[in-house]
Amino acid sequence: MAKKACKNCKRVVAKGNVCPVCKTPDLTSSFQGVAVIFDADSEIAKRLGVTAPGKYALKV
Ligand SMILES: [Zn+2]
Repeated sequence: MAKKACKNCKRVVAKGNVCPVCKTPDLTSSFQGVAVIFDADSEIAKRLGVTAPGKYALKV
């Protein structure tokens, strides 16, 4: 199964059809780039609007 990204929070979802962060089923398989966030307080996390560690798409 292809990976998808959440249109709402950009989280990359490897399994299932619901985002594990915001629980929305609004996913897309056409996303660009992946950033791995280890620290939700880092600058890149803030720029992406990320609040939890994990893999995120750069562009959805
Ligand atoms: Zn989400």
